Amino acid sequence: MTRFETADSERRIPVGISACVLGEQVRFDGGHKRNRFVTDELAKYVRFRPVCPEMAIGLPVPRPTVRLVLTENEPRLVDSKHGQQDYTRQMQAFAEKHASGLNELCGFVVCAKSPTCGMERVKLYIPNGNTVPGGTVGVFTQKLMTAMPWLPVEEDGRLQDPVLRENFVFRIYALHDFYQSVAQRLSLDAFIKFHSRYKFVLMAHCPAAYKAMGQLVAGIKNWDLDEFFTEYRQQLMDALRQRANRRNNTNVLMHLQGYFKRSLTSRQKQELHDLIQSYRLGHQPILVPLALIKHYLKEYPDPYLQLQTFLNPYPEELKLRYGL
Ligand code: SF4
Repeated sequence: MTRFETADSERRIPVGISACVLGEQVRFDGGHKRNRFVTDELAKYVRFRPVCPEMAIGLPVPRPTVRLVLTENEPRLVDSKHGQQDYTRQMQAFAEKHASGLNELCGFVVCAKSPTCGMERVKLYIPNGNTVPGGTVGVFTQKLMTAMPWLPVEEDGRLQDPVLRENFVFRIYALHDFYQSVAQRLSLDAFIKFHSRYKFVLMAHCPAAYKAMGQLVAGIKNWDLDEFFTEYRQQLMDALRQRANRRNNTNVLMHLQGYFKRSLTSRQKQELHDLIQSYRLGHQPILVPLALIKHYLKEYPDPYLQLQTFLNPYPEELKLRYGL
């Protein structure tokens, strides 16, 4: 069984989701917002925990629409027609209670634009009917992100973007890997081994965090391990939220190439160098030099490189690196 195969759905990565994105007919009009990538691709690898917060606080289907109105400097979740029904406190209380039972989650897909579930740029009205530039966050998602600031959260619409999609899935797998590798046997050794596997990942996503986290891990003996767990998780997930750009990825690829300097012939080295440069210039996806590096790794095994998550972050079948 490979690292990514799962024997049954119970062992898949737990991910929360707005129920309408999963295709459940829970929207105000009885419809849904099914996202094909979520239901046809991601669902093979994760175990979704759907929730419709508006139904969870007792609203029916169909129901009158709600919206966010800025009142006394606070967005209020009210009915769109008269603004008389205020669901804000009820929704906040539900979100807090729901989030407190979600510690095992490794990600959350929320529905864009919703005054309840939206993650950004949700319309925020002022009483005269105009909207506030930039909008705001839905009431449920705001509470969720405050309660779990390390959790990868993404909107259904943004998952259409190959770069955002890859980054989100990457973070889900990394957090799950962290829980599997460290949380279940909290020890100095487990942290150091995990951190060692993420060296190139951190270099690609955020060189500054790579340095800072190296220092953090070097001082691990001065920490209480539970506190270290919380701090490391937050720094890791903050770093991974930054997308790995072409320049940083090129730097990592060149580091990886360095591991083969004694094994490859001059012609092979030149070929790999040319592919890396071709990727740097945007002529090839990262998959092309990576495939050659993985091929050489099979021929010239290196135990340290073989463990690097950068080379194998999630199932290839998700095809997430095709567009990068
Ligand atoms: S956006 Fe959220 S509250 Fe609205 S239907 Fe979907 S899950 Fe329910």
